[in-house]
Amino acid sequence: MTETANISSTPPQGLHAHIQGAVVMIGFGSIGRGLLPLLARHVGFDPAKCVVIDPDGSGRALAESFGVTFLQQALTKENFRAVLEPLLQSGDGRGFCINVSVDVSSVDVMRLCYDLDALYIDSSVEPWAGYFHDKNIDIAARTNYAMREAMLAEGRTRNRGGATAISSCGANPGMVSWLLKEALLNLARDLGLRGGDTPAPQTRRGWAQLMQQAGVKGVHIAERDTQRSLRPKPMNVFVNTWSVEGMVAEGLAAAEMGWGTHERWLPPQARRHKTGCMAAIYMLQSGGDTRVRSWCPTPGPQRAFLVPHHESVAIADYYTLGASDRPEYRPTVHYAYRPSNVALLSLDEMFDRGGKLPKKQQVLAEEEILDGADELGVLLYGHAKNAYWYGSQLSIEAARSLAPHQNATGLQVTSGMLAGIVWALENPDAGVVEADDMDFARCLDVQKPYLGKVAGYYTDWHPLKGRGSLAPEMLDRDDPWQFKNVLVRTPA
Ligand code: NAD
Repeated sequence: MTETANISSTPPQGLHAHIQGAVVMIGFGSIGRGLLPLLARHVGFDPAKCVVIDPDGSGRALAESFGVTFLQQALTKENFRAVLEPLLQSGDGRGFCINVSVDVSSVDVMRLCYDLDALYIDSSVEPWAGYFHDKNIDIAARTNYAMREAMLAEGRTRNRGGATAISSCGANPGMVSWLLKEALLNLARDLGLRGGDTPAPQTRRGWAQLMQQAGVKGVHIAERDTQRSLRPKPMNVFVNTWSVEGMVAEGLAAAEMGWGTHERWLPPQARRHKTGCMAAIYMLQSGGDTRVRSWCPTPGPQRAFLVPHHESVAIADYYTLGASDRPEYRPTVHYAYRPSNVALLSLDEMFDRGGKLPKKQQVLAEEEILDGADELGVLLYGHAKNAYWYGSQLSIEAARSLAPHQNATGLQVTSGMLAGIVWALENPDAGVVEADDMDFARCLDVQKPYLGKVAGYYTDWHPLKGRGSLAPEMLDRDDPWQFKNVLVRTPA
């Protein structure tokens, strides 16, 4: 282990910033309910000017306990302007719209905020209800890649200016982009690059050059959730440690990943995009049913899911050198997510039933969890020291003592959003940005007190280790870190 920081179980205190105008929170599910207490603790705002909107009234009492107004309503393409405009314009000062809903178009709400000169943040690029599951829409148009391109196009129309609008800023996407920069600096130091004293690059190109110089072939967003439910999962109930709806949408969607320049073998089921940043590919199979070999500190080697995620595309794009369609350097980037045991079983049952979701669903509240941790970090691989994992190891016990109304998974997300909100208030005219564009050191400064143990580990594990007795001809022996060896399609 190389780095350790901020192992605290005392609830952090102190205001980081102020919101002068109205605060509108869209959605009050697992993330909204965890975020509101952090906002109240660290961001000064007037509760009388704060409204929480959700069609599900089950969070009303919690929202009202913070002195804010609860509006039980579903936003739609038809009504969102009429509902949001007066709310965001009430009172003096710039309003702040915090979108933590599902089924509400991020790009449409982002555009409205631009028109009203209000600040905006979300933790995922969401379309209006029904879009992801509409089989009449081409698969390529339903990928994270396509959602991100629409969001980037919105940024371009305002010539990169205007009130700050932060896209996709939670844990992942979000925090992992900041951890990646810190990890890269640690790795550069340990490799002795640039005399062992590497200052943080100031430009996107500088970061990409540093990653190339460090010899990083790719990055897994490597997560292991060991949180255990107090009660065994009954059959036909989908149980998860965060949004069931979000997990199902991601699990059923096409697997997606940033496609690096070192790759020599394209899976036959993979497809390339025809327009846009060209940093990613997608596959004609569901991400929640596509396994990859990866590594996290607690389990060591693990098989995990190649769930499609915004950061797989955004990070690969950010660290590209050269022309987008013929890059000189680009890392392979993908999520390698091993969810909690109950979620794993829930996914299996759902795929057994042809992707049909059972009627009963449950998101484990912190009091329904026995023990365990969410271990979420970045695994930088293929360099001279083989592989380096750097991330947050947050136990349920630590999460409980640090903040109310959330489990470890939720706290990694809400603290990432808190950091994003503080950054937006300190940089209010930055236009449309993603986590990679923000000041990683400042954001981690705000977030780390909530992340439990933040540590780095080198490992000699690689995806060929101990393998190849059954089908050696299907492996690439010359380079352990080829995606051909990472994708689970051959026997152990
Ligand atoms: P959730 O399902 O628990 O909550 C979503 C809420 O949105 C629900 O309360 C629902 O009633 C509400 N909602 C649904 N339709 C709505 C509408 N038309 N108008 C207003 N509200 C509506 O989900 P969650 O776990 O709280 O996640 C919220 C968002 O955060 C999702 O987009 C999810 O993908 C994202 N997320 C991001 C990260 C990250 O690390 N970046 C992690 C977890 C979740």
